[in-house]
Amino acid sequence: MLNIIICGAPGCGKGTQSDLIVEKYKLKHLSTGELLRKEIGQKSELGLIAESYISKGNLVPDNMIIDILSKAIKEQNGNGNGIILDGFPRTVAQAEALQDMLGALNKEISVLIDLSVEENELIDRLLKRGQTSGRSDDNLETIKKRLEVYEHQTAPVSDFYKKLNKYAFIDGMGSIDDIFGRISSVIDSKQ
Ligand code: ADP
Repeated sequence: MLNIIICGAPGCGKGTQSDLIVEKYKLKHLSTGELLRKEIGQKSELGLIAESYISKGNLVPDNMIIDILSKAIKEQNGNGNGIILDGFPRTVAQAEALQDMLGALNKEISVLIDLSVEENELIDRLLKRGQTSGRSDDNLETIKKRLEVYEHQTAPVSDFYKKLNKYAFIDGMGSIDDIFGRISSVIDSKQ
């Protein structure tokens, strides 16, 4: 059983690498960004609330996202080889909640993969994505805010997993294949 977290600043390539990991290791992909964008697309009550935070570059409130994710994890429980969490946990409070959720199911995180990319490159990638993504948060002003939020609220999540000895730093610069090679060696060492 592999339960992996992939984390890193907006634009670091989490989604791209998650797809490759899912294919190779047959894991279930749980992306909180995608779950939220689905709600927004359906114009649900939750989606409308989420959109008001996301379009400003802020995180949605912890209790809201913890609720969404714990449902998704329970639905997934018992199926397949494990999960890859993309975009969660994004705060230390979410990391603590995740420990409880998994503990209740007798499961644990295998490793957190921290994908590191230089800031200029992140901004270039996100602006490029903004030309086609239709996402309300892929514009320069919101990107800068998201990077700031990442630094203050999400970077401390790495320390949480360092203390548990479950942290792996990955250089996220270079070709998609090279980066995937680095990630695969870390995952293989956890099996
Ligand atoms: P990116 O990593 O490119 O910022 P995501 O698709 O992971 O994109 O997330 C988009 C937005 O959705 C975030 O900026 C945030 O507002 C919201 N979001 C996603 N995951 C979480 C989370 N775990 N906690 C709070 N907000 C979240």
